[in-house]
Amino acid sequence: VFLALLGSAVALGLTALVLVLVEAVNVLLPPDTKFGIVFDAGSSHTSLFVYRWPVDKENGTGVVSQALACQVEGPGISSYASNPAQAGESLRGCLEEALALIPEAQHRGTPMFLGATAGMRLLSQKNSSQAGDIFAAVTRVLGGSPVDFQGAKLLDGQDEGAFGWITINYVLGLLIKYSFSGKWTRPPEGTLVGALDLGGASTQIAFVPRGPVLDTSTQATFHLYGSSYSVYTRSYLCYGRDQMLSRLLAGLVQRQNHSAGPVGHPCYHSGYRTTLPLASLYESPCVHTAAPQNLTQNLTVEGTGNPGACVVAIRELFNCSSHQGLGDCAFDRVHQPPLWGQFYAFSNFYYTFHFLNLTSQQSLGAANDTVWEFCQESWEQVEASYPGQDRWLRDYCACGLYILTLLTEGYGFSEETWPSIQFRKQAGGMDIGWTLGYMLNLTGMIPAEAPAQWRAESY
Ligand code: AMP
Repeated sequence: VFLALLGSAVALGLTALVLVLVEAVNVLLPPDTKFGIVFDAGSSHTSLFVYRWPVDKENGTGVVSQALACQVEGPGISSYASNPAQAGESLRGCLEEALALIPEAQHRGTPMFLGATAGMRLLSQKNSSQAGDIFAAVTRVLGGSPVDFQGAKLLDGQDEGAFGWITINYVLGLLIKYSFSGKWTRPPEGTLVGALDLGGASTQIAFVPRGPVLDTSTQATFHLYGSSYSVYTRSYLCYGRDQMLSRLLAGLVQRQNHSAGPVGHPCYHSGYRTTLPLASLYESPCVHTAAPQNLTQNLTVEGTGNPGACVVAIRELFNCSSHQGLGDCAFDRVHQPPLWGQFYAFSNFYYTFHFLNLTSQQSLGAANDTVWEFCQESWEQVEASYPGQDRWLRDYCACGLYILTLLTEGYGFSEETWPSIQFRKQAGGMDIGWTLGYMLNLTGMIPAEAPAQWRAESY
């Protein structure tokens, strides 16, 4: 190469030589930015994230940035049980966007992952062959792309929580810090944050408790940058937003005789009325209440706007009856260590509290008052105050009261610990969720050992 360049230099003169040399060096050096793609195949919809990072700082912390977040059109992949090929096709639009962003020369070296969460967990339980067909269909489409597709996997709930925990602590730079004086330092103990995630079908909690995790089935151990972390992580299937709403309605139908007329719904605003096919309510494996005899009927539901009765109905969804002191009641008969440290609450925790204007710090009592006042507004008032927002509007009351119940009576937050929760969608320009932690883990980008300089100092 250099002999050829020298020849060119004589022919073209010095300026041209410099240009040719720069070009030659660009071709010979590896590209300095790397990319990774993760599909989050959730129960209600799929998102795609493209991450980018400088190659030479690959093992540092906080060096990864989010280059693209793309929302796949249509529902989550688990909804395509009767037409699995369509689940694969639905991903093409976002995939094209990601490919257009990443330089073509780097396509082959770009890892791509798809992780499916609670929607597919439920479908696998209900009909594993349908779930298998959907995984095969998405694998066909993604495997045919020019990037390095590493497979479509079902994430278990504990991993979903644990990767959310890695994401938030990585993004906030809480695992390791590069100080101004050019040294790696370990942030002080107790600054790690916990992760609270409320998806469509499940909810997750993950944090490092002050004491040991007694039940090892709820423990994830990580060796990151020379430190060991014992994270309590737990996922509750059927306690996500959409499944909670179905279970709530099924409970109300069971307690009221729907053939005697419309079912009153205390979590819907007064004046709200809707009709739905009764059978649709009993399709989910999360709905365990006995279905009425005649499932071909329609069900009419009328809002009564009664937050007190709504909370009573929500409490029925938690299996806390055997626990006396609700403070330490880990619902569904699971032991949870006492809460410890700061928490970031994202996904539907954020959407709902953002809508209700509750994301800035305030007391638990004030948050409670706001939600109750909102629930007592008539449907007419609510619709007039939020024109054009009908997609989620009906359910913010139920979700607001559910979140308050889940966080206090389920997870055990109190008036004192409430201010330790931050309701956030993003941190450091990145969406908070499990995807980044998942990619960091699978690409080995968080080394188990401390940086060399740090190790040398500890001798
Ligand atoms: P996701 O984080 O996308 O899995 O969504 C979690 C839950 O929030 C699902 O039940 C979604 O239907 C719901 N959701 C998504 N976006 C919004 C929004 N802007 N407002 C209220 N709920 C939402």
